[in-house]
Amino acid sequence: MKILDNELSKPYTSSSHSDQVTDQARSILTKVMQFRRMMISEDSCDSPACLSCHNPHLDKVSMAIKQKKKIRFVLPAFPGKSPNPAKVLGYLPDMAEKQALTFLNDLCQQIQSIYEPGAELIICSDGRVFSDIVGISEKHVTSYQIEIDRLIEELNLTALSTFNLDDIDIKSDFDQARYELVKKYGQDLDSLKDKVKNGGARSSNAEEKEANRMYLGLTRFLVEDLMFPGQTRSKSSIQKECKVKAYQAIIRSNAWTDLIAEKFPEAIRLSIHPQICGSKKIGIQLLGRETWMTPWHAVAVHTGNEFVLMKHREVKKLNAKLVQDENGHSSHYELMPQN
Ligand SMILES: [Zn+2]
Repeated sequence: MKILDNELSKPYTSSSHSDQVTDQARSILTKVMQFRRMMISEDSCDSPACLSCHNPHLDKVSMAIKQKKKIRFVLPAFPGKSPNPAKVLGYLPDMAEKQALTFLNDLCQQIQSIYEPGAELIICSDGRVFSDIVGISEKHVTSYQIEIDRLIEELNLTALSTFNLDDIDIKSDFDQARYELVKKYGQDLDSLKDKVKNGGARSSNAEEKEANRMYLGLTRFLVEDLMFPGQTRSKSSIQKECKVKAYQAIIRSNAWTDLIAEKFPEAIRLSIHPQICGSKKIGIQLLGRETWMTPWHAVAVHTGNEFVLMKHREVKKLNAKLVQDENGHSSHYELMPQN
């Protein structure tokens, strides 16, 4: 990352005003894409300055520059902690979230160092969108959301803000809000099933591939979350249930994506998932380096010089000490030196 830094921060040079705007937009996108997550495939590219990767986002960034506005990003993420204690410390955000939020704020500040109006990132928490499917209680989603807002304030992460389903003025309960969301934005189950079926490894259709990838990924997460210690159900019955749930989750997720796009039409869409070259979303790292784990499916472990994410059950096999935060909540693990 450091080696690329000098080379990539060189300004693009050209003459007319609109060229200058485009050049600045490309510099900003290159900065963001230094921390992107790329899907590994034959058509993946390795340069954060890749023009094909920039192109879907160029108009939005250029528009903000022309209007001297902040570059606005939206990121559906931070839904709530996994309900599986083998993965996480508890239901509240902890050091894992603190690390990710701090990185995302730093990224916006890095943009400000090359573009004075700066950047802002809206975390579009999707916990309420899926809580009933993934088995997180409404109460825990609420507590998680409140705590994320509190951390943003406490850590003075001024580039970050949050938006979630509760912010939409549907005068109803959470089930009704989800029902309204799917009614307005949701896609048809049969057409989704077709896309998933056709989107295997040999598919060349980006939309079908994405549907297939989401289906497999979500099914795996849902199964993992139900395989907690003491679970008495068989793995095959859990798998069967999770396949049905995965389809529901994708419909909700896509509906949430459409709602966000309508609410923030000028914003550049980030994703926690790796993307292909030229994607409409930019896959973004959450800790400033590649890790396939997310803070809400893991525990932060301090290794002596940095934090890494691990599953709770894996940390417990190590010689590591649990650290509490100033409020007495479990925060993270500290790896003990070998002797
Ligand atoms: Zn590319």
